[in-house]
Amino acid sequence: MVLRERPEWQFFAVLPKADPVLAVVWWLLLLVRGALPAVFAIAMGWLVGAVQHHNELTGPLVLMGTTFVLLQVLTPVHQAVSANLGSLVAAWLNDELTRACVQPPGIGHLEDPSLAEDLTVAREFDRGQTGPPMYMNVDFTASSLVEMVGGIAAAVVLFGFSWWAPVVLVVAWSATHWLLRESGVWRDRNTPEVRSAQRHADYAYQLAVEPAAAKELRLFGLAGWAVERFTERRRRLFELQYTATRLRERPMIWSLLIVVVANGVVFWALGSAAVGGDLGLDRLVVFAQVAVGVSSIAFGGLNWVLDGAAAPVVAVRKLKPAMAPAGALPGGSRSVSQGPVGIRLRDLSFSYPRSSRAVFDGLELEIPAGSSLAVVGQNGAGKTTLAKLLCRFYDPSSGAIEIDGSDLRDLDVDGYRTRVAAVFQDFLRLELSLRDNVAPGGAPEADILAALADAGASDLASLDTRLATGYEGGTDLSGGQWQRVALARALCAVRQGAGLVLLDEPTAQLDVRGEAAIFDRILTATRGVTTILVSHRFSTVRHVDRICVLEHGRVIELGSHDELMALGGRYRTMFDLQAQRFAAEVDEEGMSYDTL
Ligand code: ADP
Repeated sequence: MVLRERPEWQFFAVLPKADPVLAVVWWLLLLVRGALPAVFAIAMGWLVGAVQHHNELTGPLVLMGTTFVLLQVLTPVHQAVSANLGSLVAAWLNDELTRACVQPPGIGHLEDPSLAEDLTVAREFDRGQTGPPMYMNVDFTASSLVEMVGGIAAAVVLFGFSWWAPVVLVVAWSATHWLLRESGVWRDRNTPEVRSAQRHADYAYQLAVEPAAAKELRLFGLAGWAVERFTERRRRLFELQYTATRLRERPMIWSLLIVVVANGVVFWALGSAAVGGDLGLDRLVVFAQVAVGVSSIAFGGLNWVLDGAAAPVVAVRKLKPAMAPAGALPGGSRSVSQGPVGIRLRDLSFSYPRSSRAVFDGLELEIPAGSSLAVVGQNGAGKTTLAKLLCRFYDPSSGAIEIDGSDLRDLDVDGYRTRVAAVFQDFLRLELSLRDNVAPGGAPEADILAALADAGASDLASLDTRLATGYEGGTDLSGGQWQRVALARALCAVRQGAGLVLLDEPTAQLDVRGEAAIFDRILTATRGVTTILVSHRFSTVRHVDRICVLEHGRVIELGSHDELMALGGRYRTMFDLQAQRFAAEVDEEGMSYDTL
């Protein structure tokens, strides 16, 4: 494998990116700490020689003392540097991951199951569920590398005795790496099976700890089930990890044999040289120490540590190029003109990525600039998909979406999106102030207040109230109140110049009275811009210019409310059905709303 592609290399390459100065300090401390034991051995030999020959003891004692103090002091300093560097690496990885997810203009990469698994691995590193967090990993790596450098420094000093002794020891101790590598390294961490177990464990964990599922888990007596699932998934994950990391006996025995023989030979040579009078006591003291010191090359756990540390780095770096094409929207640079947006769908066909089912098949539709259109149809007819295609989150499989006469794919996507405002069913709820929720990109206060009024949300909270509990003065909203905020966001965007508004069930969570009142206001606020409204409540769609009924991927009826009623087709059937049911409900509740 090319060096640059090796996980270890990728890990070390990330350190200076996280913080160049700290990375240099980290490496320097590492080298100094690694060299110190060899220096200490030399100082010891010097001291023994000085005692033997009645020389001045100050020099060797000062060197020993300094080395000893440095050994003691540099370790915690290096640990602190490692912890900081590790946190910075984690932050850098988080940023990279965030960018990789957010930057692609499309959203296909976030829905790709194979990428979702990589995403779990990449995200996991900082939660400490599958391995130590990054600040510990960098510290472990530092300790292991210090040992490695220490072993090499010892081997270098041993060259003073003979050329072959360090070679024999280095080869023998290094052999343990290769023999045990298979067992010491969690090679199988990234198999599809492990990743799948990891994802399941992650999901079960989320279910158990996040408030979103808390109500149903309790109501349906699923608390025990959730815990069981979590522990079962996690046990499976640990089993897979254990199988991959467990020590294997045979390579262990071979390692021991090689190491014992090599050390036996070297120490025998040292002993004979000393006995034969070729090696003085001072030099024997040094070489015996460094001969032992070479051992720190092996069993340092460096492979294991580096594997753990490098896995998230590799996962993040792999995701970036993988996500980009999945979320890419090859596009043009044509700008979009101001004013209301005219739309034409030409023979539009669309299937979701990895799905063989066509949501649209030869859809033809024209929406004149500045008009309002309601899209109705059964669940799954493709209403939301149409709204997403109009935002260009995906491209059509065939056919085209034309915006003011230009293919949407030829337009500058960012520029186009500034002209589109939308309320989706799963709209965004930002844990920010009401002001930021209505105008995340900023807008004049008058526009924000007017948009809130149009959405019937004037009295919700002050503009600077944070819409989340858990913050001082923060408050949470009901589903319907949040929906009004989302609506205000779209209406505020209209005031900022959007020429197309997509409203996907924008009042689904409002009560009937609120809904009827708000619709007239929405239509007034969006007069003059192209408005597409998805709603299953027919009382709300009758005021739009035209209504289109979607079925089996095509438009089956198109016209105004009166025209479609007169036609007596699908629209009329659905309308009458709802009107009857609605009238019955109103009777039961003893209320009468004159909305139908
Ligand atoms: P509607 O809004 O009319 O209820 P949608 O546009 O949400 O319908 O869905 C149309 C079809 O596309 C459905 O069959 C649905 O299962 C499918 N679909 C929706 N979203 C996705 C997606 N992200 N990936 C794959 N299929 C999807």
